[in-house]
Amino acid sequence: MSEIKVLSNNLINKIAAGEVLERPASAVKELVENSIDANAKKIDIFIKNGGRSEITVSDDGNGIKKDDLKKAILRHATSKLYSMRLDNIRTMGFRGEALSSIASVSDFSLKSNQEYNSEGHEIKMVSGEFKYIKPVNQKKGSNVTVKNLFFSTPARLKFLKSENYELLLIKRLIQKFAIINFDKEFNLYFDDKRVIKTSLTKGHEKQNRFIKRVNEVLGSDFVENSIELNLTRNNLSLFGLLCVPTFNYSNSNNQFVYVNGRVINDKTLSTIFRIAYKDVMFHDRFPQLIININCPLSWVDINVHPMKNEVRFEDANFLRSFIIKSFRNILENIGYKTSKFNRLKLIKKLSADVNLQEEIKLKKKPDSYITENIQNNQKEIIDDLQEPKTYYPLGNAKSQFHENYIISQTKKGIVIVDQHAAHERVVYEKLKADYYKTKIKTQILLIPVIIDVESIIIKDFDEKFKKLQKYGISVELFGSNSVIVREIPVLLSNCDVKKLVEALVSQMIDENCFDSLETEVNKICSTMACYGSIRSGRKLEVEEMNDLLRKMENTKLSGQCNHGRPTYIELKLNEIEKLFGRK
Ligand code: ADP
Ligand code: MG
Repeated sequence: MSEIKVLSNNLINKIAAGEVLERPASAVKELVENSIDANAKKIDIFIKNGGRSEITVSDDGNGIKKDDLKKAILRHATSKLYSMRLDNIRTMGFRGEALSSIASVSDFSLKSNQEYNSEGHEIKMVSGEFKYIKPVNQKKGSNVTVKNLFFSTPARLKFLKSENYELLLIKRLIQKFAIINFDKEFNLYFDDKRVIKTSLTKGHEKQNRFIKRVNEVLGSDFVENSIELNLTRNNLSLFGLLCVPTFNYSNSNNQFVYVNGRVINDKTLSTIFRIAYKDVMFHDRFPQLIININCPLSWVDINVHPMKNEVRFEDANFLRSFIIKSFRNILENIGYKTSKFNRLKLIKKLSADVNLQEEIKLKKKPDSYITENIQNNQKEIIDDLQEPKTYYPLGNAKSQFHENYIISQTKKGIVIVDQHAAHERVVYEKLKADYYKTKIKTQILLIPVIIDVESIIIKDFDEKFKKLQKYGISVELFGSNSVIVREIPVLLSNCDVKKLVEALVSQMIDENCFDSLETEVNKICSTMACYGSIRSGRKLEVEEMNDLLRKMENTKLSGQCNHGRPTYIELKLNEIEKLFGRK
């Protein structure tokens, strides 16, 4: 056996760098977080060659005094753990290891100045070795330049992906920072080309400044297809934007998630969002959203991930059920509204087809028709040439074509409805409502099902299984570590009882929730709705068409079918006129 040795500081830093720095974007994240912690108002980020040859982050924050420069690049040296407690962290950083890690695997320069003059100081390190501290020209604030990142750790260098991919990650990261820090200015440059530019809005309300920033960073589609989220309960608040279900995405990249303003990337939260949207979205799609979860600092542990991407909540169940309930409530209130995106796609397609050269510029309205007056499903009586006419939100049916599509005239345009998709949602919601509202019809199993369960949940068996009774499932203790299912709802008579109860048990072990039961009920209602709805290919009378439109207006979530496809598309009259070159 060889002798035990204590590692050198330089080696310790390189090992830490392996955890903190996965790729150029992680260095950018640490540096921008430092600028935010320094109360910077303006942060400029310059990237060369995907971050491999150079990363520069420059800010106008508080700066570092000359005597502290050497400490700043020491491991476990921080100015941020004021109370020396880990349950009270207000700042982005707290471990004091980012600068030491970055400096150990790059050609590193930190220039800083605390005063409003240009007499700053620079500390220079190469691959973890101190080179010099000298006076330099530096305005108030800091400027960190990281060159040749990972050049001394070839294994990590090999691991990096293409320049474009690394740039994409950096761009997405700065978008995330810029969205939530809407009172700070961000500029991002790739090889001298500016790819993100933000401006500051003063004086407006917080909500307005936020929306303006989202428009600036993500474009107007995101805002136009989403609903504001702003709810508080027991010191827990959710703030941001939730997309309408038909404005979904193929992965979770368009989810901008924050906890107390901190950019995080947490799989558990992403799963919770999917559960909240489950009923209105295809299983392989992801809702687009921006959410800042604000809670007391002591409720959340941020010291659980080397890159601070994940967090742990003290009361994860409360958070989970608050998020799911709030999201569903908001989604249900959208009523029949659907994504504007499909309408824009249609217009683009049509305008290309009629070979209209000039680009159609739809008038941008910050309060899109989705957010405007979403609750107002009421019909409107207007006077048209002295003749009173009744206009409903989804209009009056005019005709049916290809035996599946209804054309209806609205006050401001036309609506095209997919009769099968629309009816499916209407029937589905009715079935579910009936199931949960009325006393659930149950049936006794001819052969009871016995299921082995972990002995841990048997401890509070009574309390947990009593809740299932409410849903029509009767379960009793059977021996020391199994349960027996004697009764189930009639609606579930064809499902795999053993699988369902096993899933319920595993959910109950730590979460006390019944997602799998709800999933099962929804699945069955959905299948029944699909078979029980008006099929495509059926001819409808005008009264039947109008009946369907009225039902859609009064059914929650009817803007999309059970699989997340839109049930109708609306074209405004002025858009139609533009297509024909009249406007
Ligand atoms: P941490 O952020 O966890 O404290 P870092 O290694 O990232 O650790 O930074 C070490 C210290 O250097 C910080 O605590 C802070 O005092 C100082 N520092 C780093 N970057 C900046 C900056 N941009 N502006 C002002 N101070 C900074
Ligand atoms: Mg830091």
